[in-house]
Amino acid sequence: MEKKLLTKKAACAAIVEMGHKLTEKHLVAGSWGNISTLTRKGIAITPSGLGYEKLTPADIVIVDAEGQALVGKHIPSSETKVHLAIYKAFPEAGAVIHTHSIYASALAAMHEDVPAVIEDIVQICGGKVNCAEYAMTGTQELADAAVKALAGLKACLLANHGAVCWGKDLAEALLVAEILEKAAQIVVLCKSCGGKLHELDAADSEAMHTFYEEHYSKRQRGEE
Ligand SMILES: [Zn+2]
Repeated sequence: MEKKLLTKKAACAAIVEMGHKLTEKHLVAGSWGNISTLTRKGIAITPSGLGYEKLTPADIVIVDAEGQALVGKHIPSSETKVHLAIYKAFPEAGAVIHTHSIYASALAAMHEDVPAVIEDIVQICGGKVNCAEYAMTGTQELADAAVKALAGLKACLLANHGAVCWGKDLAEALLVAEILEKAAQIVVLCKSCGGKLHELDAADSEAMHTFYEEHYSKRQRGEE
């Protein structure tokens, strides 16, 4: 699928704007979590340790596919390895968002998957969202575990940590993060009241995911 790559300038501005959105939507807090998107020359990624509120386009770092900084005055995100591994493993990925959202993190703290019990997360991801095996933040092991758990899907949980989501662009990665958090909240609520979770049929899940990919996502982008 064709990817519309942003210029470096547009990508840096879009990442700053996305940082504000993630904060407003309570998907991240403080300087935790991180955002990247492909540009025509390199990968634009949030710097390590800077809060989203004061972030400016000049703070965004541009790295190459190996994580070497090409442009920028700061150190790139400590989770740069996770972002790079996703772009390498999934050629359709144009943006990656790593969140520390509460309900996804609650399931990650229990090393539990997000089962396929709600239609919208299934439409976007195609099935249950896996929780990756634990690996310490910032390591290649965490990047490898995330790619393994993603298994072609657009989201996974990171054990004892949070979630990572990708999309064709930043808007889709945000949508995945929001819908994942909503699904995680529903699962936690169901578990809290001792309710029984009913998983969707695998064939129905596949049909809904295919419809989303081929039609619904295009309607959301005004392409159909
Ligand atoms: Zn993190």
